[in-house]
Amino acid sequence: MSDKPNLIDDLAAVVGLAHVIEPDDDAAAPYLKEWRGAFSPVARAVVRPGSTREVADVVGVAIRHDAAIVAQGGNTGTVGGSAADDAKRQILVNLSRLDGVREIDVDNATMTVEAGATLAAAQDAAEAAGFYLPIALASRAQCRIGGNLASNAGGLNVIRYGNTRDRVLGLEVVTAEARVWDNLTGLRKDNSGYDLNDLFVGSEGTLGIITACVLALEAPARQREVAFCSVADVAAAVRVQRALRADTGDQITGCELMSAQALSLAVAHTPDCDWPFEPRQDWYLLIEAATAARGDWLAGIVNVALDGAQKRGDIKDLAVAETEADQAALWRLRESIPGAQSAEGASIKHDISLPVSKLPEFLEAATRDVAEVVPGIRPCAFGHVGDGNLHFNLSCPLDASAEAFRAREAELHRVVHDRVAAMRGSIAAEHGVGRLKTDEIVRLKPAVEIDMLRAIKQAFDPNNRMNPGVLVRP
Ligand SMILES: Cc1cc2nc3c(=O)[nH]c(=O)nc-3n(C[C@H](O)[C@H](O)[C@H](O)COP(=O)(O)OP(=O)(O)OC[C@H]3O[C@@H](n4cnc5c(N)ncnc54)[C@H](O)[C@@H]3O)c2cc1C
Repeated sequence: MSDKPNLIDDLAAVVGLAHVIEPDDDAAAPYLKEWRGAFSPVARAVVRPGSTREVADVVGVAIRHDAAIVAQGGNTGTVGGSAADDAKRQILVNLSRLDGVREIDVDNATMTVEAGATLAAAQDAAEAAGFYLPIALASRAQCRIGGNLASNAGGLNVIRYGNTRDRVLGLEVVTAEARVWDNLTGLRKDNSGYDLNDLFVGSEGTLGIITACVLALEAPARQREVAFCSVADVAAAVRVQRALRADTGDQITGCELMSAQALSLAVAHTPDCDWPFEPRQDWYLLIEAATAARGDWLAGIVNVALDGAQKRGDIKDLAVAETEADQAALWRLRESIPGAQSAEGASIKHDISLPVSKLPEFLEAATRDVAEVVPGIRPCAFGHVGDGNLHFNLSCPLDASAEAFRAREAELHRVVHDRVAAMRGSIAAEHGVGRLKTDEIVRLKPAVEIDMLRAIKQAFDPNNRMNPGVLVRP
């Protein structure tokens, strides 16, 4: 006998029938869609709990039916982490109804926010209370705080504020046993054992469901400077970021490296997006400095730092934004690159990180490697030079079909990942492992590390109920 009526009825008894969606219902489509088209999600049901208690009870139902749970926030991840893939066993638990801001503690400079709040809503709430929540993602209107934490999102200002992990001062989690762990303490110091917060952050839904968190807030910027420049080469870009950080007393909040190829696509495919000067070099930097301090001194020290880099020959051409509209126009060059790459046709992506000092060597070697595999390939690299994270994306040769290019995907991943591993970098810098890179991390990480990951998974989730197939397979 099928368990269908029992499972659906049991879920409906917890969250209400309106919040249980069967997969053949049109209403399930947004939850069972992977925006890049790289996965074709399927699930037994989509469930939308509205409270921590309901999340725990949904896990309780899953235990009784031996079902599995795939947590989902805004479904903007790039590695298939929230793309359920088992129509019989997996329940997709979408957290978007759990979207409250529970508290802003002004003196502690923290906010307690529920997992389903969008990043934009959390940032608006922080701003209304006189703070800044510094997680800078272009997906801010869609992605949700639980997803940001579960993927330990990076973004545009890690150079100054760190990864999402560095914001987290407490968590509320529903465990694989359907228990609620309330650790919403907001403590900046707590050495009373293993750091369990840190285990759940970046765990991609494989250890438990994050239902709320305490995040550290910052003061909002009062002075902000944005500049765009061409550099002599990637080594010069690395020197420029180092000098700017030192010369401004670490006021740099963004330092983005972009190839001429990547920028050309942005300009070609995006309205209101143009070079600020004639492009003559292969590499460019977008630099932002900001401080919460009062006054109008930031422009002065940034200009002196830029001037020094120009005199040393590292910076070639330079445009400094004079108005907020100029600042937005310069940022548009950087932010238009991912969309422009999609508009240009097939592209194969690598989210990698290395010590900043190794970026020049990597880019030279990896560009050579991929051209040997696919002659005419168009590397379209950009990334966060200040934290060593590159999106080493590869666009299809102009004279090749998308199908022929895609057929070489595994081979291209392998040569790029091998190069990264040889230089002791990471093949999953800010987007996570998901369903996409589970085999690659087993291939490239030391066996002892994979054994430790598996031991943690086994300890927290012995029945492989939480997002099976993601990050680490038992
Ligand atoms: C335009 C665009 C720009 C982007 N830019 C960046 C960028 O600069 N840097 C970056 O790092 N990423 C970026 N991303 C990727 C993505 O937005 C981030 O990874 C984001 O943090 C994912 O949040 P989400 O709510 O969409 O999570 P989802 O995609 O829904 O889920 C991501 C993972 O987290 C798990 N999960 C979700 N919610 C929970 C929860 N409450 N408890 C436990 N597990 C959970 C899921 O199971 C899945 O494994 C970008 C995406 C887009 C579309």
